[in-house]
Amino acid sequence: MKNALDEESFIAPASRLLIVEDEPQIVAFLRKGLRDAGYEVEHTHSGAEGLAAARQVDVDLVVLDLCLPDLDGTEVLRRLRAGGSHVPVIVLTARGDTADRVQGLDQGADDYLAKPFAFAELKARIRARLRRREDEAAMQLGVGGLVLDLRTRRVRAHGRELELTAREFALLEEFLRHPGEVLSREWLLARIWGLEFDPGSNVVDVYVGHLRRKLGEGSIQTVRGRGYRLSTGRRPGTASQNVTP
Ligand code: CA
Repeated sequence: MKNALDEESFIAPASRLLIVEDEPQIVAFLRKGLRDAGYEVEHTHSGAEGLAAARQVDVDLVVLDLCLPDLDGTEVLRRLRAGGSHVPVIVLTARGDTADRVQGLDQGADDYLAKPFAFAELKARIRARLRRREDEAAMQLGVGGLVLDLRTRRVRAHGRELELTAREFALLEEFLRHPGEVLSREWLLARIWGLEFDPGSNVVDVYVGHLRRKLGEGSIQTVRGRGYRLSTGRRPGTASQNVTP
């Protein structure tokens, strides 16, 4: 059986939490406790500020109160998800009845905790959400607004889901594994089609054409005489994420 210290050791020291809560005593209590647990903690008193802060890319998890003075927490959550954010959100509320809980989860909350709650339980739920997020990140490839999920075989471009065939998916995966690099036709033929020589079919060019139509014409650049390169829209390498093969 794991003891409390084993559980604590899972915390990634740099994880940044955002608390959106208007009650000063609860804020003070959460800030101190979560900082002591090794997290970076930010906080806002209002829903509008909380929504803006939650949209920052470096927020790893949001603890969101539902009852806020300006924008209700459910509305913060709805707008956050409508904007395409997948940041984990744990909802805190005094309204602990089933209807509110279902509504919170329907709006895109990842978890739900009714006040009064035990601080140890909040910490446990935060750890569980952050671990799941790390697992998911390891199964994704992403560059400049493109996200390819290796487990679900889904692709999103700036939040919009794309329908790709298996071959198109495999081709895009190669490009995302080598952001900013020029990939030759020969290399792609060998990797995607298992062919040692070009049978004269221009199959690579045809499939690059398919991807360009789905991703946008500027998405894959032709490098004359050398091959193709995924346009990252950034300096090579800065936006790529880890991957576990
Ligand atoms: Ca409140």
